[in-house]
Amino acid sequence: MTQRTPIIGGNWKMNTDLESGMSLASCVVDGVENCDSCEVVVYPPFPFLQAVESVVDASKVHLGAQNMWHEESGAFTGEISGAMLKDVGVSSVLIGHSERRHVLGESDALIAQKVDLGIKQGLQVVLCVGETLKEREAGDTLAVVLLQLKTGLSNVSRDQMASIVIAYEPVWAIGTGKTATPDDAQSVHASIRSTIVDLYDDNIAQQTRIQYGGSVKPDNATDLFSCEDIDGALVGGASLSADSFTAIVLAACDS
Ligand code: PEP
Repeated sequence: MTQRTPIIGGNWKMNTDLESGMSLASCVVDGVENCDSCEVVVYPPFPFLQAVESVVDASKVHLGAQNMWHEESGAFTGEISGAMLKDVGVSSVLIGHSERRHVLGESDALIAQKVDLGIKQGLQVVLCVGETLKEREAGDTLAVVLLQLKTGLSNVSRDQMASIVIAYEPVWAIGTGKTATPDDAQSVHASIRSTIVDLYDDNIAQQTRIQYGGSVKPDNATDLFSCEDIDGALVGGASLSADSFTAIVLAACDS
């Protein structure tokens, strides 16, 4: 891996309850205590953000949110603004996760608006991109991923790229136990980085972190992290076990 600090995110999705979420966060805080060379973020469900913040506050673990709305405030029943997230200590937000795209129908255009506002509100924005199995089998992986990338970044200036992390998550690998091979993942990551060169410049591309996501586990993490353009992982299922998540963080620290 290059000089980029690896970033490991734990996306808890719609899992845990208040007590188990706080306990999971507490075990993660303890487990990563001595890991200095890696950034760690947990993304609990909205109702538990404040409670988890009280656990991770003053630790190395950052607090993230799984989504936000693209307007600052107003009549958007059931939605959450970036300012509200900041208010409760959130520093990072996932935008365009495949479940938001494919289960909840979020479009590239909506995602671009969310990216824009998340950055303006001072959040680290993790822009998630990835192809479905059908798209992969049709040979459209790069066309899909790079279009999602370009549209997602369409309002992002050069200076704002410092607040962006890209998560490449092939949809067919999320929650399925199937992982892209390190070579397959590396090849898509390299294309993402070279597209960032085209959109911005080489310097910005070299500084942008690109996480891999899709059934990352302690036993496949080391091979993935040894790839030149893989700068950590966005972890779903394995982030619900403090032992597994911590082992993935330690693998990134050692990479
Ligand atoms: C995710 O939710 O972003 C994810 C990658 O899930 P899993 O690790 O369970 O595949």
